[in-house]
Order: sequence, then structure tokens, then C-alpha cells
Amino acid sequence: MTAGELSVETAKRCSEQARFAIQNVPFYQEFYRDHGFQISSFDDPAAFTELPILEKTHVRENFDKFISTERTERNSVISRTGGSTGEPLKLLRDLRFPARALEWQLFSWWDVPQHGHFAEIRRQVKGVSTSKVREILWWPTRRFQIDAYSLTEESVEAFAQQWLKTPPSVVIGYVGAVLEVSRRLGQLGYDLPAPQAIATTAAPLHMGTREEISSLLGAPCYDHYRSAEIPWMAGECQEQDGLHILEPLRTVEIVGNDDRPASVGQTIASDLTNRVFPLIRYRLGDQSSVIEEACRCGRPFPRIRSVVGRTSDNLKLPSGVVIAAEGLTQLCEEHIESVRQFQIHQKSDKSVDVRLVLRPGAESQRVVQAISDKLDGLLKHEVPIQVDLVDSIAHVGGKISYISSDA
Ligand SMILES: [Zn+2]
Repeated sequence: MTAGELSVETAKRCSEQARFAIQNVPFYQEFYRDHGFQISSFDDPAAFTELPILEKTHVRENFDKFISTERTERNSVISRTGGSTGEPLKLLRDLRFPARALEWQLFSWWDVPQHGHFAEIRRQVKGVSTSKVREILWWPTRRFQIDAYSLTEESVEAFAQQWLKTPPSVVIGYVGAVLEVSRRLGQLGYDLPAPQAIATTAAPLHMGTREEISSLLGAPCYDHYRSAEIPWMAGECQEQDGLHILEPLRTVEIVGNDDRPASVGQTIASDLTNRVFPLIRYRLGDQSSVIEEACRCGRPFPRIRSVVGRTSDNLKLPSGVVIAAEGLTQLCEEHIESVRQFQIHQKSDKSVDVRLVLRPGAESQRVVQAISDKLDGLLKHEVPIQVDLVDSIAHVGGKISYISSDA
């Protein structure tokens, strides 16, 4: 497929998804009609990029209205996210389209064998039954993981043992956590069989970090772009020169401050495979830029530069345990009906402050108590925690630095 053919196919799918949404999803019926669009508007493929941009607030405040007429109990599952900006969110995934297909597309670019094992460095999947189900789903491939929430010498040891038993062909995880785990494995003196590839996400992969991870684990380290709301949107090829957007199933547009197409600006993404809870022209709000030239690899997929803007620090406990920032994003997950926004800051004395913006009508005392209890558990009762209610949290350069540490 040439770049031209791909762009025609993508435009066709964009129009189809928009047409589907305006016909079958109450939110879009109203939203698009209010902006002067109707079903016939999408006969013109150019109409798609004129559609109003969907904000996180829209999704957060209109959950029921985003559910399409096609949704059934069997074809969908609720997904709660911490969000990448400290603003929790609830949505539905379409089970008819496995995100795994996109994952495989990237893995094939990295020469990761189809039946290899996977090591994941990320937030832990809760509950025994879930991991049993996963084991069956992934059989005969073995997926094992280390909890990015809480890295201890024991957990790193256990991870290394599993690694030796089922050497992974790919290691996937948050940049900060992958770096930390790689360093710990080195410190513990492990010489582990090298994977085929390392895939990092959730923060920009700076050159120094890439080199350090690659040399510690002995494999190339590839950047990819995903979000809790839209899994697998873009990824590097072996050239490691920008992220290829996974069209025609995803689009990532870059817009300037005026929300018009720009070469540098914010990311706006569409998931063209979710028909139970469509997210169309959804502002992820990360910073990136368009790469105009074709990639040396010859693939037709358009490219963007490494995505930046989501900055977060790991928290450090007096005992030496490191809590990966990305793992803390689920802190408010169970309270998304009450919490509009949160911010976590660790001071130099290692104490932790949390600032919460609640929605009107939230039971503030109960929520504050529940969140401080949960955080206290996550931080292993090692440091003092202070939870404060505030009216708003300031944005810096359009982004909230939602987990920071001076420790
Ligand atoms: Zn390429």
C-alpha cells in the first residue's frame, strides 16, 4: 500500500466512524449537530478534520451519552483510567477489536517472534482470577510482570527468576520504571538473556535513557505512543526516527493553539475501531510534531516526533523502595465520580502532599479519607501524607505536572 492509498483508506474510515457516531451515539448527535454537521456532511472526506475537538471533560461528564446503540454486555467492558494528566476517566472498550492486532503490527517491525514471552513493567493487574484468565488468553505465550507501583529488591528478584525461566522476547513498560528495573537487575548482578526488543511508553524517551536501557538489557529500545483511552496509536520502526501512526485504525493529528492543523502542537487522536464508545478527534493534549519526509524504512504510515508533555517523577521512600509515577495514576480511579483532578508532590523530606479538585456534591470527607488511606498503603506507611482540597490546579504550558518529587 502506498502512502496515498493509505491516506484515502484512512479518510474513508474516518468518515464512516463519524457517520456511525452521529447516527448511533447520543453525545455526538448533539455535539456535531450543534456545530452544523449532519449525516450527509461526511460525504465530503474533508469534513472530518473540521469536526469539533472532543475534550476529556466531555467524556468524563457524559459517560452514558457516549454509549452507542451497538453496545451489548458481551461486546464491551468498562475501563477506568487514571488518565495521563491526573484527571480520572471511565470508558468502554470494544471487545470485538483486539488491541493485540496493533501490538503485533509493531512487534513484527521489531522482529519480535509471534510466540515469544512478554515481560511487562507496569501497573499490576488486580486479582488472581484476572491473571488466570490472562494466562489462558495468552497461552502458550507467557506474560509475566513486575508491579511498577512498588519496586522492591524481592519483586525485582522474583522478576529476574521468572525472566530466566521464560526469557522474554519483548519487554514492555513505562520509561521510568523500565530504567529503574534495568538498573536494579544490574546492581543485583543478573546477566539475563537479552530480549529482541524493549518497548517503552508514557514518557518521552530521551537519547541518554534509550542508550542506558538498551545497554543494560542488551536490546534496542523502541518508543511507542498509547494512552489508557486509546491503546497503541503509534510506534517507532527499526529506524528509531519518529513514531509511525497506526493508520487506518488510528489517527493522530497535530493542532496548534487555534486547534487548526499545525506542524507542531497538541495531539488529537481518533480510535476508528471502537464502536461501542467512540472517541473521535479526542484531545490527548500531548506535544508532538509532524515529520513530513517519508521514513527510510519505506513504510507508508505517517510519522510524528516522539511525544512529550507528560512529565512525572518517581516517588522515593526512606526504605529505598521506588514508586513509579505512572503506577500512581490509578490513585483516584475508584472515585472518578467525585474527583475532577489531582496532583501529587513529594517534598525533599519525602513527605507527600496531594491536592484534589472535587466535583460539586462529592462527599469530601469520605473521599479524602479513602484516598489518603489508599496512598498510605501504596507508600507502605513510610511517609506522612497530607491531602488538601483545592479549587483548581494550575496548568504549566498547558500541561499539569501531576506527579512531582523533590526527594
Ligand atoms: Zn519507518
